[in-house]
Amino acid sequence: KKRVVSGVQPTGSVHLGNYLGAIKNWVLLQDTYETLYFIADLHAITLPYDAPQLAEATRNTAAIYLACGVDTSKASVFVQSHVHAHLELMWLLCSDTPTGWLNRMIQFKEKSRKAGDENIGAALLTYPVLMAADILLYQSDFVPVGEDQMQHLELTRELAEKMNQLYGGRKWKKLGGKGGALFKVPEALIQPAGARVMSLTDGLSKMSKSAPSDMSRINLLDPKDVIANKIKRCKTDSPPGLEFDNPERPECNNLLSIYQLVTGRTKEEVALECQNMNWGTFKIVLTDALVNHLRPIQNRYEEIIADPAYLDQILSDGAAKAAELAESTLTNIYQAKGFLRRS
Ligand code: ATP
Ligand code: MG
Repeated sequence: KKRVVSGVQPTGSVHLGNYLGAIKNWVLLQDTYETLYFIADLHAITLPYDAPQLAEATRNTAAIYLACGVDTSKASVFVQSHVHAHLELMWLLCSDTPTGWLNRMIQFKEKSRKAGDENIGAALLTYPVLMAADILLYQSDFVPVGEDQMQHLELTRELAEKMNQLYGGRKWKKLGGKGGALFKVPEALIQPAGARVMSLTDGLSKMSKSAPSDMSRINLLDPKDVIANKIKRCKTDSPPGLEFDNPERPECNNLLSIYQLVTGRTKEEVALECQNMNWGTFKIVLTDALVNHLRPIQNRYEEIIADPAYLDQILSDGAAKAAELAESTLTNIYQAKGFLRRS
């Protein structure tokens, strides 16, 4: 079976962008592929964060995965920091990652600009190397992510190729290895619909957990009245009627796309249904659709979070399985980079 790996950071509330761009697709993939879904807690400390909240956020994020339909009889769910190999491989990759590659990353530039220079730790810069380790460790074939991660995934691919060239093949064989590629070069799986859900307050920025205003996103656990209020106050525009794909109307396109995705209708159906609507009418329809779509997820979440022992067991099983899969990659790369074997 081909392998799929992906994760979400426990940096805040999981929102509609994380769900439509990533988690919803995970659920479809678990039937066909060997799937590993982790909670990216090591990534969550790349910007200043609240230590007393990290553990709970990690647990809640795991519960969200399950509530969204990730099925642990098919997929492994684990906490990134519980599998030490992620950090080990990261360091081994760091020595071959040019800092120029990292300085070019759009997310690094954006997040460091927003955080202000004095708040930038080295981990924000090296974040993509950890992400590469997350993926390459498991010899993943596919990585389902939103469009914002495309550049990081491209770096992962380049790094895999570079490592294979530097240390793989005959050179590895000479050091006692089996030769050939050390790493599989993974491919991004980006579903065009939902790949880039935009902020409710600005149709040109993506919806983000780390955006300061909670009004900019719909969180999966938002109660009905909160959703209604956010939709009521979200940014709109004045032309009559509603339409997709008008570059002058990014908010309109975003809200229609969200509506399309949560109702499961086609774009054509939604375009037709909404072409003559005004914002007032559409906002009511959209709020209902969101509330209805999220209700079963929220109900399942409440059940899961009420049983911490069950969740702990899942995370512990998941970590054991992942650690086992990670071991051979790690052994190979130590060998290929010339380290003295533990005896
Ligand atoms: P942060 O602001 O802390 O970076 P985030 O909202 O970007 O949080 P991540 O944990 O970084 O969320 O990303 C988790 C997954 O969700 C990734 O696959 C990412 O591509 C996807 N994703 C994040 N935001 C969006 C969005 N607005 N639309 C579609 N997919 C998204
Ligand atoms: Mg992000």
